[in-house]
Amino acid sequence: MIFTRSTIYIAALASFVAPAIAKDVNVYSYRQPELVKPLFDAFTAETDIKVNVQFLKKGLVEKLVAEGNRSPADVILTVDISRLNSVVEAGVTQPVASNVLNANIPSEFRDPDNQWFAITSRARIVYASKERVKNGEVTTYEDFADPKWKGRICTRSGTNAYNLALTSAVIANHGETAAKNWLEGVKGNLARKPQGNDRAQVKAIYAGECDISIGNTYYMAKMLSNPDQVAWANSVRIVFPKFENGGTHMNVSGIAMTKSAPNKQNALKLMEWLSGDEAQKIYAEANGEYPINPKLSASKLVVSWGEFTPDDTPLIEIAKLRPASLKLTEIVAFDE
Ligand code: FE
Repeated sequence: MIFTRSTIYIAALASFVAPAIAKDVNVYSYRQPELVKPLFDAFTAETDIKVNVQFLKKGLVEKLVAEGNRSPADVILTVDISRLNSVVEAGVTQPVASNVLNANIPSEFRDPDNQWFAITSRARIVYASKERVKNGEVTTYEDFADPKWKGRICTRSGTNAYNLALTSAVIANHGETAAKNWLEGVKGNLARKPQGNDRAQVKAIYAGECDISIGNTYYMAKMLSNPDQVAWANSVRIVFPKFENGGTHMNVSGIAMTKSAPNKQNALKLMEWLSGDEAQKIYAEANGEYPINPKLSASKLVVSWGEFTPDDTPLIEIAKLRPASLKLTEIVAFDE
């Protein structure tokens, strides 16, 4: 093409005008860049709305509270129902009334007051050594406290969000006293002090340090696609434990709109888009999570791990039990 003075002038004018149209949406994310980038790139390609993301490791609630009405954030993105609920409880979100969100997300996966919306789910399951654990040897969460597992269990810190949510589910199913006994029983069966992330436990099984570990489902997909970790993945199989009188514990990742969202319309578009077909497919295929939208199915790999019945403890109850599970975890000195 021939560059004339007028094309250059038009290009400069366009970039000057762009900010006034406010084709932006600002996201604070606890989720990692490699996961959210393909999602936001697809959203921008479709809507022309640019997504600016600030990635945080901690302090999201404190940051939003400190920024108050001047916060540039429109949408928050996080894993774990307790973290999602803590943003709501801090009073820095606003309700979102959307027929699209209501149609795409089953009611048990969104706040009755429309403050938070789950966008994916994951099960907290057992990774079991193919060599040293027989089929049917572990079937329930209650099982983890059985002395037959002495010196055979690996897990990350008991105060990690995923483990606290699991302990909350134990409390919901059995009450605090039984949950304390359960934590003590599991602690007594650990092969080593809690350390590392969910994948590090599978590595320890591969290395022969323990026979079962507790972890989230999608980490299997991540290990299988990582040349350095595929051997760990292949040393274990997935078992979906259930509660004796319940189902398999699941947690979620989710979204909320900030109270002060400066780009409210774009924020709504992004939230609705994340619950729709294209985003849900990316979550399922690229991250090995369960789509929240019932129109979509999990990836072939994830489906191959088997079916299970989710525990029916309401997510909000899991979130509300967090202080109790943290207290019990500290009382039994789970990590020491
Ligand atoms: Fe994770």
